[in-house]
Amino acid sequence: MSGKLVMGNWKMNGRLDSNRKLIKAMLEDAHINRDGVAIAAPHAYLMQLSDLLAASPMAIAAQDMSQFGLAGAYTGEVSAGMLHDIGCRYALIGHSERRQYLSETTAVLNQKLINALEAGITPVLCVGETLQQREAGDHLTVIRDQLDILAQLAPTRVIVAYEPIWAIGTGKVATLDQIREMHTCIKQHCRQTHGGAEAVRVLYGGSVKADNADATLAIDNVDGALVGGASLDVESFGIICQAC
Ligand code: PEP
Repeated sequence: MSGKLVMGNWKMNGRLDSNRKLIKAMLEDAHINRDGVAIAAPHAYLMQLSDLLAASPMAIAAQDMSQFGLAGAYTGEVSAGMLHDIGCRYALIGHSERRQYLSETTAVLNQKLINALEAGITPVLCVGETLQQREAGDHLTVIRDQLDILAQLAPTRVIVAYEPIWAIGTGKVATLDQIREMHTCIKQHCRQTHGGAEAVRVLYGGSVKADNADATLAIDNVDGALVGGASLDVESFGIICQAC
C-alpha cells in the first residue's frame, strides 16, 4: 500500500481566476505540492487544473463520472475514459451529496466503479451513515452494506472514504474512537470479503480542519483524508497536508 493521501474536494466551487490563484498558492506550499495530495475539482475546471498542475506531483480527481460506458449517445455525460484522457488519477464515487440530491443507487455506483477501473482511474468510494443510523446503533451494519458493492471488484485498486454524513460540512467531527472503530471495521470487512484489506486505503472525511488533522490522521487505519471546506483555504489545507 502506498503512503497517505489527502484529497481536497472543492465541491461546486471555483472560477477560472480564483482557481488560478488558489493553485498558485498551493504550488508554493511544499506540504501541498507533492505526491500524495490530490484535488477533486468540478468537471468544468479539470482541464484547467491539468494544465496548472502539469509540472507538479499533485494529482487531479473528478468528483463524479458517468455510469455509462467510455463513449456514446449520453448527452451531458462525462465518461471515465475522457477523465483519464485529461489526466485524472482518481474519481469520487457515491459522495453522500450525490447519493442524497441525485438519488444515486447501488446499481449506478457499481457501474461507475467498473467504468473507472476499466479506464485506469482509481475510484474513491464514499461511504457514510446518517446521524439517525448512528444513534440507532446501526452504523457498522450500514457501512458494511455499502461496502458490499466492492465484492465483485479488484479491491486493491479501490480507495474507500469513510464520511459520516452528519460530519460533512457541519463542523461536527467524529470522535477519535468513532473513527478508529469504523476504520478498523472497514478494513476487517474488506479482509473478510476480499482477502486484500492491507491494500485497501481508507480515508476519513467530515469537517477535517487544521486543528483536528494531526489527531485524526494519527489514528491507526486512517490512510489519509478527504477534505471539503478546508481545501479551499490554502493555509488550512497546507496544515492538513503537513499532518499526513
Ligand atoms: C466532503 O465534501 O467530502 C467533506 C468531507 O466536506 P467537509 O470537509 O467540508 O466536511
